[in-house]
Amino acid sequence: MAFVLIHADRALTPTIEIPDAAILIEDGKIVSVGQRSSITAPAGTRMQNAPGLTVVPGFVDVHIHGAGGHDVMEARPEALSAIASTLARKGTTSFLATTVTAEPDLLCESVQRIADYMSRQPTADSTFPSAQILGIHLEGPFINSLRRGVHPEAWIAPPSVSLFARILDSAKGAIRLVTLAPELPGAFDLITYARGAGLIVALGHTDATYAQACAAIELGARHAVHVFNAMRPFSHRETGVLGAILTAPGVTAELIADCVHVDPPAMRLLISSKGKDDVLLVSDGTAATGMPDGEYRLGGFEVLVKAGVCRDSQGHLAGSTLTLDRAIRNVVALGVPLTLTLQMATLNPARLLGLETKKGVLAPGADADLVLLDAGLQVMGVMTRGFGFVPQR
Ligand SMILES: [Zn+2]
Repeated sequence: MAFVLIHADRALTPTIEIPDAAILIEDGKIVSVGQRSSITAPAGTRMQNAPGLTVVPGFVDVHIHGAGGHDVMEARPEALSAIASTLARKGTTSFLATTVTAEPDLLCESVQRIADYMSRQPTADSTFPSAQILGIHLEGPFINSLRRGVHPEAWIAPPSVSLFARILDSAKGAIRLVTLAPELPGAFDLITYARGAGLIVALGHTDATYAQACAAIELGARHAVHVFNAMRPFSHRETGVLGAILTAPGVTAELIADCVHVDPPAMRLLISSKGKDDVLLVSDGTAATGMPDGEYRLGGFEVLVKAGVCRDSQGHLAGSTLTLDRAIRNVVALGVPLTLTLQMATLNPARLLGLETKKGVLAPGADADLVLLDAGLQVMGVMTRGFGFVPQR
């Protein structure tokens, strides 16, 4: 049994602040968390000191298309490992591999290969850090072409239970979340079917009216992707899908907090209307994440990255190069307290996935997914399931 004890200036669990904190880890799992004086380390425990640093849970991102020069739809093991290790360096320790609209055979092949990788993905005997794929987020093809963003028009499909069942089958149970436009004919049947299969249904790439969005929420849709982006805009007389998302209790909302996709006042509006429990920071990251400016692929098409902003050939925003550490710094800069901001990148996404005792939290029994932050909220060390680097200063 290999014990490791991490000793840092403080821990944010994220809901509780512990000064002079220690975390005892055994075989990739947290055994205990508390003040240093309250934790007894068994003989032979390896000590890792992190003076001047704050230890927080690893970030959980439910919306990532790629990183490190690779897109999840390539789905080769080398591509997925490169994505996983690039993400881990910036503190994201688990994520949903997110697909874009594509030709159905290609989509089925991608989800099948991602599922194969997940079943074999490195566990505690590998060299780390490497983020863990928790499942697949199917973004498209059942979206509205009016709000498609950069999803290719040619492969957008009307909601179809039979096509969806085929994709689910290919993914062998790995799909956790499906984004759809509820106003399309057949969408309500698809929501009912997806809920019956135990999936999270998200509203996105949608031109839904307020009434249509409320009807979808009534049927069990409970999440909204990249809120404000690729949605019918808000008006005070027809508030549209945004009116429903901003006011429906329990509907969680993704925010791409790069200050490019959403302006800071709208970020504040979302956070103040949804509250600390229902906002999830996401990156919508693409292959260009962690890479220099240039040309990259998103699913089956090209995107151009200039000054870190991804756009398609028509200039539409095409995902981002954001990482959650930067998103956290941007939200804190708005004046949101650090503990609440961290919750939006850790506990809230874990809770959406039903994994809040395992991921996104520093608690006994949870995976040892940890991030060390300095006073400027820069990532100084990352541990994924017990493996990784902790500075010794
Ligand atoms: Zn999108």
